[in-house]
Amino acid sequence: MSFDPSARKKKKVDCGKLCPEWECRQPGEFEGIWVIGEIEDGQIHEASLQMLTPARNIAEKLQTWIEGVLIGGDKEALEKAAKEVIYHGADKVRIIYHPDLKVYSADQYALVLSEEAKRVKPEVIFVAATLRGREFGPYIANTLRAGITADCTNFDVDMKTGDVVMIRPPFGAIMLAHIKTPTRRPQMGTARPNVFPIPERDESRTGEITWIELESIPQRRAFLEEVTIIPQTELPIEKADYLVSGGRGVATKELWSLLEELAKEMGAVVAGSRKAVDMGFIPHEKQVGQTGKTVKPKLYIAVGISGAAQHTFGIREAGIVVAINKDPEAPIFKASDYGIVGDAKEVLPLLIEEIKKLK
Ligand SMILES: Cc1cc2nc3c(=O)[nH]c(=O)nc-3n(C[C@H](O)[C@H](O)[C@H](O)COP(=O)(O)OP(=O)(O)OC[C@H]3O[C@@H](n4cnc5c(N)ncnc54)[C@H](O)[C@@H]3O)c2cc1C
Repeated sequence: MSFDPSARKKKKVDCGKLCPEWECRQPGEFEGIWVIGEIEDGQIHEASLQMLTPARNIAEKLQTWIEGVLIGGDKEALEKAAKEVIYHGADKVRIIYHPDLKVYSADQYALVLSEEAKRVKPEVIFVAATLRGREFGPYIANTLRAGITADCTNFDVDMKTGDVVMIRPPFGAIMLAHIKTPTRRPQMGTARPNVFPIPERDESRTGEITWIELESIPQRRAFLEEVTIIPQTELPIEKADYLVSGGRGVATKELWSLLEELAKEMGAVVAGSRKAVDMGFIPHEKQVGQTGKTVKPKLYIAVGISGAAQHTFGIREAGIVVAINKDPEAPIFKASDYGIVGDAKEVLPLLIEEIKKLK
């Protein structure tokens, strides 16, 4: 069944039945998909480009266009980012510029984007669930009284109504919730980095770029006093090709240092389960899983991790998964390509020794 685009224009709601304090907005007046592009250190964020993948799928189903939306105060960076957004699949780009938008501020960005959304009326807004996206995304949704579904793992379209179906694991991650917003527009959704691949880059793609140069912007309520750059000594786990990940089964000083030694010998980055975070062995940014990060290493070694659904959710994109667990019935073996049943205390020194021999 394909969607009949004329049905979009006819979509009407009885605003009297909705919250009387909310401005009445007819869904039929909204069209197009916005993908908000985040710019970090002068570059378009990979996670924003990844959102163009589900956007293309939904745009095809709804027979509509994708508009990348950029905001900032650095013309050169905005121009460069706009081209990247088009090369990666957007049909056009809208740039919202004001020199004072050079420094990110959640409330200012959200208010400016909300004003533009009120004017342009996009049917859908996709935001990458980066640290910033998680901050300004819900702010926009609240300002627009639109609702937002966070951390989606897929998106679809209800072909009868044209409503976007936001798909995400609810608490527990053992089933998928399908969430629609039938009466409010825009429909907003976020997805975490690495849930979708970046669409192929094609420099021959072209698209219209519209500059909106604002004369004034809302006062920011929070001021940036100081920026401290914490030097990155290793790759973030979502970018690492090799990960050695530990759970409660190795959450002792002695076993954890063996796990770190294995990672060092392999040139791998250390990650872990939520239990490893709770027990203070790793910071939250190294947590793999539903409330942590989705990783896509070539090799993932899970040591002393049981394999709860909330954990394995984060390794769906991993290449080869090796599990080391002393319980042969541990669910992690079902999510692994290779399994070693044994005590980490014995297995880790053997692996370290073998890797040293290869050098
Ligand atoms: C809403 C929600 C979101 C969540 N999000 C996440 C998430 O993002 N990431 C995440 O990881 N969890 C998440 N969790 C928690 C998740 O449900 C599990 O509790 C958690 O993953 C278990 O961590 P673990 O495997 O390290 O510990 P356990 O489940 O306690 O497993 C420890 C394993 O180690 C093995 N073991 C013990 N000793 C040894 C040894 N000496 N050698 C070898 N093996 C040994 C045991 O056999 C066992 O299988 C979430 C839970 C909820 C409710």
